[in-house]
Amino acid sequence: MKIDDGFPGGRIETVRLPGRGPIELAIGEDSAADVRQWFCFRARSTRPREIVLVNAGDATFPAAWEGYGVMACADGRSWYRAPTEYDDGALRFLHEPRGEETLYAYFAAYPLRRLERLLRRVSREDHVDVSIVADSPEGRPVPVVTLGDPDAERSAWIIARQHPGETPASWAVEGLLRRLADASDPATRALLSRACVRVAALVNPDGAELGNHRTSATGVNLNRVWDDPDEDAPEVGALLELIRETGADVFFDIHADEAAPHAFAATSEGNPSYDGGIEAAEAALTSDLAQSCAEFLDEPFYERDEPGQGDLSCAANQIGETFGCPSITLELPMKDAGSERVRPGWSPRRAVRFGEALVPVLARALDADEG
Ligand SMILES: [Zn+2]
Repeated sequence: MKIDDGFPGGRIETVRLPGRGPIELAIGEDSAADVRQWFCFRARSTRPREIVLVNAGDATFPAAWEGYGVMACADGRSWYRAPTEYDDGALRFLHEPRGEETLYAYFAAYPLRRLERLLRRVSREDHVDVSIVADSPEGRPVPVVTLGDPDAERSAWIIARQHPGETPASWAVEGLLRRLADASDPATRALLSRACVRVAALVNPDGAELGNHRTSATGVNLNRVWDDPDEDAPEVGALLELIRETGADVFFDIHADEAAPHAFAATSEGNPSYDGGIEAAEAALTSDLAQSCAEFLDEPFYERDEPGQGDLSCAANQIGETFGCPSITLELPMKDAGSERVRPGWSPRRAVRFGEALVPVLARALDADEG
């Protein structure tokens, strides 16, 4: 069997490649930080083989592996879950060749090429503009898509992929952008008739290309520097400046959680200026998300922050505190086991649909805000 991670976003370590018996691989560390979770590699073998990630138990979030299936793609398009078992600190799955070569990943990879194609396509629409807000430390562009009239009365911001391994966020952004680019869609028309929507689709391009899970090329967890981004986090510094210029009436930061079997929101109840108005707006938003998105449960998965104890170094807390607007971190699942109330089989396709469903939710949030 041949194992290869020499491509953008690839990351795996080879431990042992015996002629027979299980192939032993290890999850690698982020390029400049002590984080271990993301893996992505190509395997070539015409025979079925067992593959073992021998150090899965030492991952940063080992709860990820309960009820989890490794994602695989053999045709460059459709992803499926390989039969997977987590036992005694090792993640074992079966390589069953469906083509010459199979791509394996923690969750369906979202290549930069695919994002570039998407941005080219949406930028052809009259009401869409794509600009570059910053260059990353390794010189990659951080794009922002502006949809609708930049001088509109209301402003919505959505950012995604601060944490590069959380690829479900990119699939959701694809659904969101495709729908927002379609000026004939009634929900899009309703939203853009009064609001400008700005989408930072890939906040951490270096981390994504390096195959990191949680950090940038400089080893920074970008979602912990929004109170004071320095020269090691130019991605956040430039975005924060632009958001301060445009203002925000609603803010979503899209992530994915390793342990959760469903999507959920972290709200901004810990912010010093949090009040009844914001609480009601965020409650209406999360209730609407639960009704609009099959994967979303309107209940906290993380412990709620105590009053005044919110972490203002996180994007959603910082923007909510600055603008007094509903501001939430949206967490999508990575695993596919589902739960009592969410059906199993979470996939890139369902993440795309989740993103599409955000359009009417945003429209209603800004409507309520105005009324
Ligand atoms: Zn995250």
